[in-house]
Amino acid sequence: MSASHRIVGALLAALLVAACTPTPAGSPSPDGGGSKGFAVTKSNEEWRKTLGPEQYRVLREKGTERAFTGKYWNNHEKGTYACAGCGQELFSSDTKYESGTGWPSFFRPIAPEAIGTEDDSSLFMTRTEVHCARCGGHLGHVFPDGPPPTGLRYCLNSAALDFKKP
Ligand SMILES: [Zn+2]
Repeated sequence: MSASHRIVGALLAALLVAACTPTPAGSPSPDGGGSKGFAVTKSNEEWRKTLGPEQYRVLREKGTERAFTGKYWNNHEKGTYACAGCGQELFSSDTKYESGTGWPSFFRPIAPEAIGTEDDSSLFMTRTEVHCARCGGHLGHVFPDGPPPTGLRYCLNSAALDFKKP
């Protein structure tokens, strides 16, 4: 009886320890933890405090907002789209076009060095992921079916962007 009590006690202690540990040992951080040398790096907890839930899901967990639900897919105002994570300017309204997809779409970033890309083979597709070069925040994907002059379609999430009028 005392032996079984000890086992139950040990199990309870293990559960309590596990519950109090923010990141279980051995489970990789979902976003790579900002270890790729970006100029702006924060812990997931810090990002959670500064971003809204949808912004966090898109920027830090590479989520995708539902089509036609974001605040910018149908925005036709002149201005600049900056990263919602760190404020770096990413895209200009001059390169925004109507793609019909329900996501804000651009044919060119404001500067080549403003963004970074990475192969993404999730969801049984090979796509090219686009992120902010300054903080690594996930923005969306780029596809080779855009209009001239680049032929590219930067398909972005409104939640990752912060629109500023000139
Ligand atoms: Zn950023």
